[in-house]
Amino acid sequence: MPEILDGNRVRDEIKSELRPRIASLTAQKRAPGLAVVLVGNNPASEIYVRNKIKTCEELGICSQTLRPPQSASTEEVLAAVHELNARDEIDGILVQLPLPPQVDAKRVLLAIDPAKDVDGLHPYNVGCLVAGLPGPRACTPAGIIELLKRYRLPIAGKRAAVVGRSDIVGKPAAFLLLHEHATVTICHSKTPDLPAVCREADILVAALGKPAMITGEFIRPGAVVIDVGTTRIEDRGQAVRVLHNIPEKMAAFEKRGFVLMGDVHPVDVVSKASAYTPVPGGVGPLTIAMLMVNTVASAEHRCGLC
Ligand code: NDP
Repeated sequence: MPEILDGNRVRDEIKSELRPRIASLTAQKRAPGLAVVLVGNNPASEIYVRNKIKTCEELGICSQTLRPPQSASTEEVLAAVHELNARDEIDGILVQLPLPPQVDAKRVLLAIDPAKDVDGLHPYNVGCLVAGLPGPRACTPAGIIELLKRYRLPIAGKRAAVVGRSDIVGKPAAFLLLHEHATVTICHSKTPDLPAVCREADILVAALGKPAMITGEFIRPGAVVIDVGTTRIEDRGQAVRVLHNIPEKMAAFEKRGFVLMGDVHPVDVVSKASAYTPVPGGVGPLTIAMLMVNTVASAEHRCGLC
């Protein structure tokens, strides 16, 4: 049986390591501060933000949510970001994506002070990532590397394939793996013969948002498979299409009326991989943990403690 890479366990480890750092910051200077800008009322974003705030509260990080309305203009969102840039007690600014269509997301992300960009998405910090300079790294890809390292799964010298080239997951994941000395192939929707390219990989990262698309024919026997994909299936037609040969997930759908699915086929991965992340409970929990790491690191830096 392959090893299951337990994201909840690693998240808890990371949180316990943060506690003394936060205590020391609070005792010597002040508690770290994270501000979230949540524009409008996208239900999924509401849940993500709630979970981030809850984790801050658990750890003793001060948090604040600014809530411009769904109808907010780019200028209004920019004004919120400028205000947060100027506030000394705010160490991290996170603009929850997606933004409503009338808001220019690129301008908003560019306006965040790179020193407070705890999502690691500002072009300055992306440049630092590419150049291998210190700086906040995008949270989900940073979580993937933490998971591999804490399970002592070697990266150096391995062939890695990353399926997906988004700015949030695919590209930064590829660069982080490259910096760990993997030989990396980045795949996307125009990659010819994707299964064959994936089968070359010792480490396969699936971040495409296509539930259960990565079946056994994509997986090299013995590969480490990291499933970033998280799709909430609520529609019965989609459930029947995607889950017809995954009885456990179909049963969960029947019971709850929805199911969370990764990009990797959950049955096939068990027969092929040497280690894999489940969905849920794999990569997902690490994203918030790494946001907390970036926030604490920013606070330490800004308070002159490192
Ligand atoms: P995007 O939609 O921004 O990017 C998807 C990428 O996958 C694109 O590069 C696209 O290629 C590629 N792709 C899509 N279909 C195919 C295909 N059939 N074959 C090959 N490549 C394909 O998604 P994100 O990167 O934001 O997210 C990916 C998944 O990860 C989603 O399920 C998302 O919910 C999940 N996610 C999970 C997080 C977590 O904390 N667990 C955090 C962030 C995301 P192209 O560029 O050519 O269009």
